[in-house]
Amino acid sequence: DTVALGTVTNNAVAASAVLVQQQQHRRLEGKVAIVTGGARGIGEAIVRAFVRQGARVVIADIDGAAGEALAAALGGACCSYVHCDVSVEADVERAVGCCVARHGRLDVLCNNAGVLGRQAPPAGNGARSGGIASLDATEFDRVLRVNTLGAALGMKHAARAMLQSRGGGGSIVSVASVAGVLGGMGPHAYTASKHALVGLTKNAACELGEHGIRVNCVSPFGVATPMLVSAEEVEKAEEMVRGMATLKGPTLRAGDIAEAALFLASDESRYISGHNLVVDGGAT
Ligand code: NAD
Repeated sequence: DTVALGTVTNNAVAASAVLVQQQQHRRLEGKVAIVTGGARGIGEAIVRAFVRQGARVVIADIDGAAGEALAAALGGACCSYVHCDVSVEADVERAVGCCVARHGRLDVLCNNAGVLGRQAPPAGNGARSGGIASLDATEFDRVLRVNTLGAALGMKHAARAMLQSRGGGGSIVSVASVAGVLGGMGPHAYTASKHALVGLTKNAACELGEHGIRVNCVSPFGVATPMLVSAEEVEKAEEMVRGMATLKGPTLRAGDIAEAALFLASDESRYISGHNLVVDGGAT
């Protein structure tokens, strides 16, 4: 009995040592992050992954109800919400300021907020991505303001805060898309905005490298999120993913994008900058 009890005690000690080790090795322990568009979809998965790995996270979004609810669910001490339309510079500056005021620093910015925009009516010539001849300039401008300018403004104010609050260093991760790599994967404005975001990432990486700030992006293939409004859109996207991915078996989930963003946010990727990490099951 004494031997058996000793074994049980030893196992319990070993198990709690592993638990302590795991807690000590959370991948974003002590870091402070902002996730734009973090109230739902891919952004929500990123927020949850960052918090799970020890970060304190500020959700910057325009959906107050969803953002507040997620922050409350994850615990006010490690997650909070601030209203921020990423296409409005004053909002972005204020969100970064709130984060630094609340937590004293900024280590990670995840530029995830994005909109798909409306597809121009088909050209009638069988083109998959609708007609450039019917392009709506107002809609084009709206999509680029959110997806590209919004990310650029995030980079600007995050870089300033990283320099001021921690003397340099930090990681900026933007969520681009396979539509930033290939044509014909989405509406014209969306494709243009995501190609621009990949280019912006490379330029910012060149400039901010001397301050130790890494700048990368993640490019997902189609994931079922509220961005794809109708069941028909989800079905179409999933069919395209199944058809093009060379990797057969798993279904792409928001959590897979969050894992890629987590890697680029963490010190595990300390020598990676200017990179576009495509998460597409080999499709592109
Ligand atoms: P989603 O529509 O489900 O969520 C987008 C979030 O961004 C929402 O919380 C929304 O309130 C917020 N948002 C929208 N406009 C904003 C603005 N101006 N300022 C601040 N927040 C704003 O979308 P998702 O599918 O989770 O997409 C997240 C990112 O992933 C986007 O950049 C999108 O382009 C990209 N992406 C998505 C897919 C996909 O298939 N879902 C594929 C490739 C890339």
